Amino acid sequence: MSSLDFLLDLLFPPKCPFCGRLLEKGALLCRDCRRELPWLSGTAAETQVELTALCVSALRYQDRVRSAVHAYKFRARSARSVPFGVLIAQAVLDHGLTADLVSWPSLSKRRLGQRGYDQAQLLALEVGKRLGLPVLRTLDKADRRAQSELEGEVARRANLLGAYTALAPERFAGKTVLLIDDVVTTGATLSECAKTLRLAGAKEVLCATLAKAGG
Ligand SMILES: [Zn+2]
Repeated sequence: MSSLDFLLDLLFPPKCPFCGRLLEKGALLCRDCRRELPWLSGTAAETQVELTALCVSALRYQDRVRSAVHAYKFRARSARSVPFGVLIAQAVLDHGLTADLVSWPSLSKRRLGQRGYDQAQLLALEVGKRLGLPVLRTLDKADRRAQSELEGEVARRANLLGAYTALAPERFAGKTVLLIDDVVTTGATLSECAKTLRLAGAKEVLCATLAKAGG
């Protein structure tokens, strides 16, 4: 995304990140989406992710949510990190999660170069701002195939084995880390990140995502 595009996104009247309708001033989403989106609460919002204490999501990954997240990741709609981050922060509060710091599953350098922004990092920054928590890059990622190109949990797990390295673990040793991502599918990515963080000394890892696929 060019800086001009980013400015245009900021200057033009904000649109609903899920359906594109113009929004009333200060609104995050339009009234229809607020009412009709597949919101999750209680245990339906939770995904079992190995080595994490809890993983919660704001929405089910379907229909408008799926296309909005897809646009956010692949069509340079990075301004959507603001409303999406607010919704994730709300899910964290709704489920009573507390953490010492916020982080995210970093992209590899190659993927970051292709996309121009790290979509999970932007979400983590927004969540940290809303929750008043520090946001730290805790993980470095080696270049691997995109998880979205792989079918099935076994292939996804194998692709990630050893992909993440902890960065400066003394900053999070003994602390609870809240990992933020856009979508949780099998949980393979978040679980691999949690394993890396816990082996490096994190006390506990929690996760929150905008959307939850399947189940
Ligand atoms: Zn809408």
